Amino acid sequence: MPVTSSNWLDMAGLAPAYDNWSGSHIGWRLAGAGVVALLIAGTVLLVWHTGGTKLVYAHFIYVPILIAAGLFGLPGGILAAVAGGLALGPMMPLDVEAGIPQDTLNWVTRTAMLTFSGSLAGAICAVLGRQTAEARLQGYRSPWTRLPNRAQMMVDLDRLIVEGEQSLIVLKIALSHHASTVTSLGHDFADDLHRAAAARLGTALGGDFRLYDLSEGAFGTILPAANYRDAVKLTNTLLAHLDEPFSLQAVPVLAGGHIGVARWPQHGADAPALMRAAAAALHDGGLDVQRRAVYDQRADTERRAMTALLPDLQSALRTGAGLQLHFQPKICLDTRDCVGVEALIRWQHPRRGAVSPGLFIPLAERTALIGPLSEWVALRAVDQLSAWRTAGIDVPIAINLSMRNLDDDRLALALADMLRTRGVHSCRVEVEITETALMAAPERARQSLESLRGEGISVALDDFGTGQCSLAYLRDLPVDSLKLDRSFLRDIEHDDRSQILIGATIDAAHRLGFKVVAEGIEDAGALERLHGMGCDHGQGYHIARPMPDADLRQWLANQPAAGTA
Ligand code: C2E
Ligand code: CA
Ligand code: CA
Repeated sequence: MPVTSSNWLDMAGLAPAYDNWSGSHIGWRLAGAGVVALLIAGTVLLVWHTGGTKLVYAHFIYVPILIAAGLFGLPGGILAAVAGGLALGPMMPLDVEAGIPQDTLNWVTRTAMLTFSGSLAGAICAVLGRQTAEARLQGYRSPWTRLPNRAQMMVDLDRLIVEGEQSLIVLKIALSHHASTVTSLGHDFADDLHRAAAARLGTALGGDFRLYDLSEGAFGTILPAANYRDAVKLTNTLLAHLDEPFSLQAVPVLAGGHIGVARWPQHGADAPALMRAAAAALHDGGLDVQRRAVYDQRADTERRAMTALLPDLQSALRTGAGLQLHFQPKICLDTRDCVGVEALIRWQHPRRGAVSPGLFIPLAERTALIGPLSEWVALRAVDQLSAWRTAGIDVPIAINLSMRNLDDDRLALALADMLRTRGVHSCRVEVEITETALMAAPERARQSLESLRGEGISVALDDFGTGQCSLAYLRDLPVDSLKLDRSFLRDIEHDDRSQILIGATIDAAHRLGFKVVAEGIEDAGALERLHGMGCDHGQGYHIARPMPDADLRQWLANQPAAGTA
């Protein structure tokens, strides 16, 4: 193993913060023994001054014996009992004033009784102590893998930081397909996968570093940062180990992995900050082609700033303040007529100014806000259609929906209701749903899309070419048109192979009965090529940028064959 340290975490056992009997705890033990000795001596003096063992004061000796049993277990209980018994033994008279000595049998019996009680108390305390320690230890282990858990990783990190000997690298490792394994194969399979991955990662770490079981499908480890390159190599080894299929119940299962890297002291001063940084990096690692990302403070700050804006977005959605729809025209490539517009939301934040939908839409999608957001967009779009109709403008509007909007029929029904109450024909509205969203939950999405189409609303598959959607899969999807993503069309003018691919896609889409829209057309050359390939419609900065209602009316009025009724 290339990354090693002679002074690293003890791999043999767990070392939680409370269980540290070395060093300063020896001091506590000596202090405890001193207190017991003083209490025995105090009892002897008390018994002597009160006149000897004939009175009850001799029973005070139980106090130091029980304390010794509590502190030192069985040996402590026995030792204190024998010491106390002897101290109250042959030298101590039965009656000090009268000078009457104790019977030998008397003090021997008492010593025996004390020893029995001390042993019993010591044994009980030892058992209870062990049980308590074991119970506490459970808090530092994963019940699934018996590996040290997140709490232990925090303790170890803090300890290494306090020791201050190393700069550190914290790795958070996730099984990329754990969640999909739960959905497709069930929890038992996913648990088996987790355990099998833990064993493999343990092998990859080679026993040099502690592997932590952080949560379902997530692990961690701490490395010395002395040689960063070696640490990078190690991450590659870990990923390679996770790439090999696992054989579970004789079924080959893919786990895949991605890793987040955080460094101390650069990325956080203490364990919670480092764990948070590693988790943020893990998120980026999941999106990176290398499947590994180092914590990026700037991106994280930006993300957190965005998250902090969510309450403002919520109130904006309530009042509508700062929100607006812009419309980007879509033209027929044959006639150059405007055949529709795409509604794109714009948010003007009171302090931050314009916030890009590319930033706040993904956040809204991760919260319940995407529901009200899409409803707001739908309502504004339908209102706009009704206003345009009054003004004699007849242009359909496409609105973007998120996967979460298709979880149930609510939005579809609300949209149909809005159209009815405003007397707008449903063929004036189109919805766009991204290819990746549709792939994520095809069945549920399919039903919602079917009910939208049942209402007469057409459906476009957005960003086509960015996911893994195949044409064969498209065959059964309830969509009317495909929107070829800008990235898919990037090399259209210069790369022959791209042209073949784009041409074949357009051709196949037509044969399957779909209309094809090209997105992000930025120059005349691309527009002409797409036209030559038979693409139906086009949209992009070369044609028109997204614009507010007033500008759109102006733009439409300036078109040679204006899209007006
Ligand atoms: P999208 O649906 O793919 O929308 C097209 C995006 O590309 C828009 O960015 C548009 O301004 C931009 N665009 C159009 N033509 C060109 C071009 O020629 N070149 C370049 N470079 N870009 C072009 P925008 O408005 O920033 O929206 C980004 C994404 O945010 C949208 O991608 C869509 O996924 C989402 N979004 C926007 N509005 C809404 C909304 O009301 N609801 C939902 N759910 N998502 C929305
Ligand atoms: Ca779109
Ligand atoms: Ca798009």
